[in-house]
Amino acid sequence: MSFASIMRQVVRKIELNNRQEKILQIVKENGPITGEHIAEQLNLTRATLRPDLAILTMAGFLDARPRVGYFYTGKSGTQLLTENLMKIYVKDYQAVPVVVKEDDSVYDAIVTMFLEDVGTLFVVDNKGHLAGVLSRKDLLRASLGKQELSAVPVNIIMTRMPNIAVCEKDDLLVDVAKNLIEKQIDAVPVVKKSAAGYEVIGRITKTNIAKAFVALADDD
Ligand code: ADP
Repeated sequence: MSFASIMRQVVRKIELNNRQEKILQIVKENGPITGEHIAEQLNLTRATLRPDLAILTMAGFLDARPRVGYFYTGKSGTQLLTENLMKIYVKDYQAVPVVVKEDDSVYDAIVTMFLEDVGTLFVVDNKGHLAGVLSRKDLLRASLGKQELSAVPVNIIMTRMPNIAVCEKDDLLVDVAKNLIEKQIDAVPVVKKSAAGYEVIGRITKTNIAKAFVALADDD
């Protein structure tokens, strides 16, 4: 059961299947109640009920206490949606980063941006650590000058450390979304921090966030 499909069940509470609705009703009226007793009331085996109980619990409609049983949490759909949003992490949606080296030319960076079909490039130093960021407009701006683009290294025009907004794989996706909006940028690198510097291990863009959003509402 994927996280997204559980979330869909939360968002569309209406679409809980018949059996799940019955379980909710039984627990509402009789909780706390063991899985065994719910199964008895429905004339089903405990094993048959297990997936439905898992969905209802993971989605937050029910809570389970060892040796006590299931009880109804009474949380609203909105409450559950917020709680579940707080479980979507960068690592669930991060994409592969596209990096160039800081002495690569602006010309090569433009070619890379087209070939890799991304809107943001991350720049690394000769040790492979994050040194800067190049956006589409950074490259367009550089192209307006009279310089020979193959002779200009990207580190002349990039936005550089320490002014780069980054995230880590265990950060909440919603916090990254807030940061993108606040800083008016399209992407942040996912980094692994060490004393030597930041290793670039992924990227989160507005597209990844849109995908997470759509996954909550999509049927497939
Ligand atoms: P564009 O410039 O194509 O509209 P952005 O909005 O992402 O794309 O970039 C705006 C500016 O912010 C650019 O100068 C870019 O170098 C810089 N920038 C982009 N991403 C970051 C980031 N993660 N941290 C800091 N600055 C960034």
